[in-house]
Amino acid sequence: MLIIDVAEHGRLRRPHRLALVAAGALLFVGCAPAASLTRTAGPIAEAAIESGPASTVLKDGDGPAVADVVGGETLSDGAAQAASRVVQAAPAEIVRAPVRIPKPAVPDGPRRVGLQAGHWRTGELPPELRRLEPQTGTSWGGYAEWQLNLDIANRVAAILRGQGFVVDVLPTLMPESYLADAFVALHADGDPNGVARGFKAAHGSRRGPYEDTLVQDIVDEYGAVTGLPHDEGGISRNMLSYYAFSYSRFPWAAAAHTPSAILEMGFMTSAADRVLLLQRPEVVARGVANGVLRFLEEVPGGMAFAEDIVLPPQPPRAPGPPPSGQAPVAGTPPRVG
Ligand SMILES: [Zn+2]
Repeated sequence: MLIIDVAEHGRLRRPHRLALVAAGALLFVGCAPAASLTRTAGPIAEAAIESGPASTVLKDGDGPAVADVVGGETLSDGAAQAASRVVQAAPAEIVRAPVRIPKPAVPDGPRRVGLQAGHWRTGELPPELRRLEPQTGTSWGGYAEWQLNLDIANRVAAILRGQGFVVDVLPTLMPESYLADAFVALHADGDPNGVARGFKAAHGSRRGPYEDTLVQDIVDEYGAVTGLPHDEGGISRNMLSYYAFSYSRFPWAAAAHTPSAILEMGFMTSAADRVLLLQRPEVVARGVANGVLRFLEEVPGGMAFAEDIVLPPQPPRAPGPPPSGQAPVAGTPPRVG
């Protein structure tokens, strides 16, 4: 699928954030890179049961890594494709099953937090993620978003380490199947009109059960500490389908059991937001840290890893070709935006 990279620092209101343009090209606006929206052209073998923690790379959809299963038998990719054709020919036999992601083995030791400095070290990406490379995020006055994100991440890390937590400050390239008590991707927004302002947080889909709590804790604490307005209506599809949440598509993502969120800390293009983002970064960091600390208190150590994750069956894919009319591109990397 052709993916066009334009206006990556821009901000448009929600109806304009995702626009289908000619020949199925996808046009996105916003700073958070997202997983590609490529879809398969037709139904897949529907009985899907996941085995093993989410390190398998699949080539379609945003859902969890699944092994295509027909009649309880786990199939290879090629066999699954053949089975898919059989299933399509005999839809009455389609059985769809829940997706189970086994609980991970968690090493002993201090609790761990991952803080991603958005857009940092994008030159290190493997070919599968190379399309993220030109996504440098927003900027202001020669100060790049990644610099702000990294500064805040390091400040938050210092606070959390002072509380006894192990903290990883992570670049764009995530560790494979990253496992932690909490993971927060830090970003900042841009608006070409300089009008929009405020912060917002979101999590992905088909992941563990604690991400609503993580997002709510961050929203509450970050908002209270910084006093920035909550730009909840500005949550974009780019945030919801952030590539680091898409463990089913890429190994370089947060494991399904890792409570994960993305925080857009404010608009670098807003004079009001910059008063905090650039001039009082210690306040911004305290807001993030308080949200994470509250979450770690509410979800004690081990709780997030204590159970298998069982998800509803993958929703059926709509029959027919994808919007572009083109064959889906296996392994399409995350979009640029
Ligand atoms: Zn960003």
